[in-house]
Amino acid sequence: MLYIDGTWRKIGGNGTFPVHDPATGEAIGQAADAGRREAGEAVTAALRAFEGWSARTAYERSTYLYRAYRIMTERSEDLARLMTREQGKPIRAARNEVRYATDFLLWFAEEAKRNYGETIPAPRADQRFLVLRQPVGVVAAITPWNYPVSMITRKVAPALAAGCTVVVKPAEQTPLCAVEVFRVLEEAGVPPGVANLVTARDPEPVAAEFLENPAVAKLTFTGSTEVGKLLARAAADRIQRVSLELGGHAPFIVFDDVDPAHAAKGAALVKFLNTGQACICPNRIFVQRTVAEPFLETLVQRVSRLRAGCGLEEGVSIGPLVDRAALEKVDRQVRDAVARGARVVCGGRRLTDDGLDRGWFYAPTVLTGVTPDMLIYREETFGPIAPVLVFDDEEQVVEMANDTTYGLAAYVYTRDLSRALRTVERLRFGIVGVNDINPTAAAAPFGGWKESGLGREGGREGLLEYLETKLVGFSI
Ligand code: NAD
Repeated sequence: MLYIDGTWRKIGGNGTFPVHDPATGEAIGQAADAGRREAGEAVTAALRAFEGWSARTAYERSTYLYRAYRIMTERSEDLARLMTREQGKPIRAARNEVRYATDFLLWFAEEAKRNYGETIPAPRADQRFLVLRQPVGVVAAITPWNYPVSMITRKVAPALAAGCTVVVKPAEQTPLCAVEVFRVLEEAGVPPGVANLVTARDPEPVAAEFLENPAVAKLTFTGSTEVGKLLARAAADRIQRVSLELGGHAPFIVFDDVDPAHAAKGAALVKFLNTGQACICPNRIFVQRTVAEPFLETLVQRVSRLRAGCGLEEGVSIGPLVDRAALEKVDRQVRDAVARGARVVCGGRRLTDDGLDRGWFYAPTVLTGVTPDMLIYREETFGPIAPVLVFDDEEQVVEMANDTTYGLAAYVYTRDLSRALRTVERLRFGIVGVNDINPTAAAAPFGGWKESGLGREGGREGLLEYLETKLVGFSI
């Protein structure tokens, strides 16, 4: 379904396309297949709605977001079940994601009212300076499949709070979740044209419209670094504003002053989150030599216990990968690592028993003996593989952790306060968890350094991404 100017359309310019359950391969629905023309219509609707929406008071805009928060909260179980079928994550994880998604609606309902300006002392006695923060205008948003609900609210809620209007293009793997998010916005009474949805099988024509239509003031994107670079390059042509939340390659550092079993528990939880398909999943686990053995023992114990299957089944904690390409990428990284001397301690193969061959399942895997010449040491894995490396001292591990073009999340396990601070300060990452595997919340700024992105989502900063600064000088 497309949602343009307050009206639903079942069919796009290119008809419809099927949506599949990645656990079974079954078709679970159809989505409207929009082309460039519908993207243009949605941008036009957003532009028309902009003046009225941005002129409302922050208090009014906030009310819509509160309502959306309440409606999505009421629907959370249905939304979570749909997410499990469409994206594959186990139902408990899907419930957590819906909660995270509603958090953004609530947080930005509140932040809408805190769009403060500034006054600045002027150098002349007869001068006054005023700084205003005004909405950038029409925002185009492109979102990924791995967090198909929260990645939409993380963009739409601050955009609407700031006074912008939006057009969202969700990932082609998860359009049905996006439709449900927009049903919530519709029921919350968000006026026609303020929030628009274009689902499409082929992202390129829609993205071309977003990039070339002069009415689109800002592009916000969450997805791979590769596509982020393409979009940023094209956006540069007209200095279109961009926010980019891209890939990661998180180091997970375990010093020998912690309980290695506790750290291993943490590593297993965050590594296998969403079957490893999260941008903050550890991609290199560094363990100090003196605790490497007990750490590995607990890690392998826990990983071997993880049960893969359809996410709606009780006790399943590993869902499928999103598609064949993802499965092949993971398998290629494992085979490359083994060819270069790594050891598979558990897992290391596609799962095909008990009907799992209908989906894209890969066994939760632990690799040891990982070295910098392996693909997995450089490429984002986005799958259930835990590569373990042993280190000797702090200096060496910080250098290795920073040896990546990515800079999203990093984790440090230590009880030594000085070491924790020293390490945190030297890590070139946007988010660092110290003995903490979930350093994220709607109230906190999320985003990456280096090739992991530009800008922040959530927190106070999340609103600023949708605002322009205007300096006003008064001569009095
Ligand atoms: P992707 O880049 O393939 O796709 C993301 C979105 O971009 C989808 O909507 C897709 O349709 C669209 N897209 C793909 N090719 C395009 C093109 N040529 N032009 C315009 N749009 C295009 O990424 P993905 O596989 O869907 O998502 C996984 C990636 O997202 C990972 O790299 C992950 O780390 C990243 N991610 C980052 C964050 C973050 O906050 N930093 C959060 C979630 C996911």
